[in-house]
Amino acid sequence: MAVVETRKLTKVFKKAEEGAVNDVDLVTRDGEFLVFLGPSGSGKSTLLRMIAGLEEPTRGDVLIGGDVVTDLPPRARGIAMVFQSYALYPHLSVEQNIGFPLKAHGVPKPKRRERVDWAASLLGIQHLLARKPRELSGGERQRVALARALVREPTVFLLDEPLSNLDAKLRASAREELTSFHKRVRTTTIYVTHDQVEAMSMGDRIVVLNKGIVRQIGTPHEVYDEPADTFVATFLGSPPMNLVEDTDFIAGFRPESVVPAEMVRGPSAPIRLRIRLVEFLGSERILHGVIDGGRFDGRKVVSRVATAASGGLGEGAAHDFAVPASEVKFFDRATGKRAAPRELSWR
Ligand code: ADP
Ligand code: MG
Repeated sequence: MAVVETRKLTKVFKKAEEGAVNDVDLVTRDGEFLVFLGPSGSGKSTLLRMIAGLEEPTRGDVLIGGDVVTDLPPRARGIAMVFQSYALYPHLSVEQNIGFPLKAHGVPKPKRRERVDWAASLLGIQHLLARKPRELSGGERQRVALARALVREPTVFLLDEPLSNLDAKLRASAREELTSFHKRVRTTTIYVTHDQVEAMSMGDRIVVLNKGIVRQIGTPHEVYDEPADTFVATFLGSPPMNLVEDTDFIAGFRPESVVPAEMVRGPSAPIRLRIRLVEFLGSERILHGVIDGGRFDGRKVVSRVATAASGGLGEGAAHDFAVPASEVKFFDRATGKRAAPRELSWR
């Protein structure tokens, strides 16, 4: 059964000219980790808040477990939500913080204790139960907030950028923890982020949003390798996909598909690049070049090459590269949408 489903879900805020969320149709799969990914202002939080019941839709419906819940209040939806700015009660212990939602629902103390122990052990914070929030690190506070959301055994977990207050190193470990936590509990989870690395590493599937419109729903592989349009192609990947405009189409290929010519086997498009700038990133180098000669002379192209294979590729010189034919994607110039493969002549 679909745990969460939206049907033509739309939100137009008062005085706004365009909808913050427009006609969103999506269906979660039982137990999956679904990520909403998009730039700031793309409607991710508004969409999540409508699913939670915190924002009233302008049109459309939300279904949970097959039932329409559009007019039900948040507490009647069987969901738990963790926000970017989760607030713990400073004067309560960790144990009391986690147990708070149960106490508010009149759950008796022995049962409460049992549920708190269960949630705390899932998140590995049993040893912190007696502490106050100020005695915890950022990552530990994050886990307490998650335990508090988990303690009522929600049917759906809604997380809105829960890691964005952590520093880069903590984020990486929190990401891993959240993923392994999800593998243990298998609660259907919707996770909002603007960070493509989080989306790619954590999501079973990714919903890519722009301007309140779903651009693509797919596995990390699908959205990366088979982007539905030029927005998805350039939003995912760092550096983004190269896009070269021709008269009636756009050809796209990822920086890692632009490889020194001598390393390519099989059908490929030769491309001569004059390298303007080399960025050294340790295991690999980012080469910023322009096409040298042919129909696309002067267009910028970025290549990403393993440092071990980039020996002779210095700034200033022109070098022969090639793009394997199967790695060139085509897009319609007018709409930006994916188009059928075709012959590409570079000469
Ligand atoms: P995201 O979470 O992807 O950054 P939001 O869902 O917060 O995006 O916002 C989507 C759009 O809706 C933005 O243009 C934002 O300014 C607008 N918006 C969000 N909340 C409100 C509100 N309460 N009133 C008016 N406009 C809002
Ligand atoms: Mg947001």
